[in-house]
Amino acid sequence: MNRRLALRRLLSLAAGPVLPQVARAVDPPTKLKEGGAEIAVSFESDSFDVPQEALLNWVRQAARAVTAYYGRFPVARARVRIFAGNGQGVSHGTSDGDDGVWCRITVGRGTSVADLDSDWMLTHEMVHFAFPSVPRRHHWMEEGTATYVEPIARVQIGNLTAAQVWGDLLRDMRQGLPEEGDRGLDNTHTWGRTYWGGALFCLLADIGIRKNTANAKGLEDALRAINRAGGTIDADWPLERAFAIGDKAADGKTLMELYGKMGEQPMNVDLPDLWKQLGVGRQDGSVVFDSRAPLAAVRDAIMRVSPVTRGKEPAS
Ligand SMILES: [Zn+2]
Repeated sequence: MNRRLALRRLLSLAAGPVLPQVARAVDPPTKLKEGGAEIAVSFESDSFDVPQEALLNWVRQAARAVTAYYGRFPVARARVRIFAGNGQGVSHGTSDGDDGVWCRITVGRGTSVADLDSDWMLTHEMVHFAFPSVPRRHHWMEEGTATYVEPIARVQIGNLTAAQVWGDLLRDMRQGLPEEGDRGLDNTHTWGRTYWGGALFCLLADIGIRKNTANAKGLEDALRAINRAGGTIDADWPLERAFAIGDKAADGKTLMELYGKMGEQPMNVDLPDLWKQLGVGRQDGSVVFDSRAPLAAVRDAIMRVSPVTRGKEPAS
């Protein structure tokens, strides 16, 4: 276990108690091909209520979502280790880049196929595969990309609607705002600032890049370039290296500029005004869109990431 894994474990522990796992002889992994990658899936506990095929479909679905966002699965080879737990639902996902790229995740014995279909956690873990491991003080960027990209990736394969995602962002993004006494993202490591502060950074970067390029590029262009340059979870990078590569592929400046504003010191964001500019709101419990809002085109483009131009991809 390394430092970054220890932190991830700690954050996952905060979500609830870890159930004891019964070790057993594990069958050889099932190998899936998705997005140009080989994903080895192992079932590390003795029983699940749902059929194994349903679990494999769940892995395929998450892999397809991440492939849609990044234009290909972000690493050539990965392992997904599935453990059985008590209760219902998916929990305790952690990702790691030591000894290959892999994640482990727990599926409650009472989990249904519908639970798997609506799961976000495995997609979140696979988004982690796509970004380099950065020094601990920048952990917000690892969790921020995973938190922000996961639902957008699922929209690309029809697993969520844009309205659902905007509704969740309207509800949850405020958790990323600095509270009294908070410092910059590099210095305040609370759960809210790590996950949602990082996601807010990503949303602002996505908007900034789209504004600066008349919607020709988005955050996905920056994140794809970082990934293609070898920035994957098994690589240790300084954050600035990732941002320099991302900026070069996008609009030349937004990631580093935003980092300059949010890294060291807290930056307040007027979220109600941001939602107004994007033209997203809530009326009678439903998400409504304003097509005349100044950033309506940016809003729509965020949920419709650009396809990868075939033939221009570097060899993997
Ligand atoms: Zn995470």
